[in-house]
Amino acid sequence: MTSLGPLPDDGRVAIIGGGPGGVGCALAVRALAQQMGRRIHITIIEGKDFAGERHHNLCVGIVSPPLPELVEQRLGVACPEHLRQGVITTYVLHASREEVALENTAHPSFAIRRVQFDHYMLETARRLGIAVVEARASGLEFSAERVVIYTDAASVEADVVVGAFGLDEGAAEVFRQAVGYRPPRALVSLLVRYYPGQQAMQRFGGRIHAFLPGFLGMEFGAITPKGDHLNANIAGRALDVGTMQAFLARPEVKALLPDDIEGRPFDLNRVGLFRGRFPRSLAGAYYGDRYVMVGDAAGLVRAFKGKGVTSAVQTGIRAAETILQAGISRAAFASHYAAANRDIIGDLRFGRAVRLMVLLSARYGLLDPVVRAARRDVGVRQALYGAVSAHQPYRQVLGSMFNLRSVAAVLRALV
Ligand SMILES: Cc1cc2nc3c(=O)[nH]c(=O)nc-3n(C[C@H](O)[C@H](O)[C@H](O)COP(=O)(O)OP(=O)(O)OC[C@H]3O[C@@H](n4cnc5c(N)ncnc54)[C@H](O)[C@@H]3O)c2cc1C
Repeated sequence: MTSLGPLPDDGRVAIIGGGPGGVGCALAVRALAQQMGRRIHITIIEGKDFAGERHHNLCVGIVSPPLPELVEQRLGVACPEHLRQGVITTYVLHASREEVALENTAHPSFAIRRVQFDHYMLETARRLGIAVVEARASGLEFSAERVVIYTDAASVEADVVVGAFGLDEGAAEVFRQAVGYRPPRALVSLLVRYYPGQQAMQRFGGRIHAFLPGFLGMEFGAITPKGDHLNANIAGRALDVGTMQAFLARPEVKALLPDDIEGRPFDLNRVGLFRGRFPRSLAGAYYGDRYVMVGDAAGLVRAFKGKGVTSAVQTGIRAAETILQAGISRAAFASHYAAANRDIIGDLRFGRAVRLMVLLSARYGLLDPVVRAARRDVGVRQALYGAVSAHQPYRQVLGSMFNLRSVAAVLRALV
């Protein structure tokens, strides 16, 4: 096919990456093509094997609304209720000396085991007739008629390629060489898992504890209950084992975690540390003739503290709509895909402003008064809940923080 218009009957879509963005896009292309009465050939290329949890994509596994609705209504598959490990209605926000419980029972988030979610989604796609190539994509060749994706198994030919490879540096380099793509800037995140036993898990309860910055370049930290274990993770521009050790040694963190696990002292070396990254800016050249990026690869996530899984699925759906309704040219992606993602893109600068505000407040000791104000004022509390849970765009968070009543509450807490 030489036209760069909407994919016609027998059009071919190849997707690099079988995480939430890639599978979300594949299932959305399938569902939409069915509605439009078009036969489209879809191939997902995924290098990891999620079966038996052999490989995984690093994640704490908290999924926020509207993920269940997107999966059921836009992807046309059942949301995997059986994979839920708990409902999260409360975040406890800690500054250096103060803490506040932020609650929202109306729109809770859910804890899932991410590798099981990825496995379920990829297998569902396969069962519905989407081809899955179990290999890593290693090269790209664009021509006027098609794009060829080289993998370490067979090559795949398509009319359009979707980059859903997250923050994978190898895949980013392949796209950089082929089309001049520039990956998003990123924050590093380190994660450690605790298995403290059933009684300790019951004592911990169903709350996520979030920690504001205060030392050694850590921008935020969290301890999250996940059924039979706790995840402790921290994020910042440059972190190492020492930062994690310092985080775990903080009194307010130590108070939440058992000193010993099943009778043996907790030892970071024994439990192992995982390293991942969050995007914190938009990627460069994330679409063009015959290609488009979704999810983390595009940097299309809520900045700073994101709802990455939900955004990946959402942007996968938007890419599918563009491919089938508007076309596969740079112009079609600019006018349709980039425009559809205006909600995320427009909020990035507000996210950057919140991040800067939090970092400066930490430096000048202002976070404790804000947390104190939240204990007394419902407006400040709602703004903090919206920011920490990722339920509200940052524009809205800033709007609630900078109204007269909230500012007055913070000033009162300061004096
Ligand atoms: C520590 C940490 C905790 C997080 N916690 C949460 C959370 O609680 N909730 C939340 O919503 N988000 C969370 N996120 C963010 C979330 O994980 C991402 O935003 C989300 O996974 C993005 O989905 P994606 O499909 O764009 O990319 P990914 O999930 O990264 O998927 C990319 C896929 O592409 C495959 N791939 C890459 N390169 C190639 C190649 N060359 N060939 C073939 N396959 C390839 C990879 O194997 C992978 O399966 C967290 C991130 C980190 C680092």
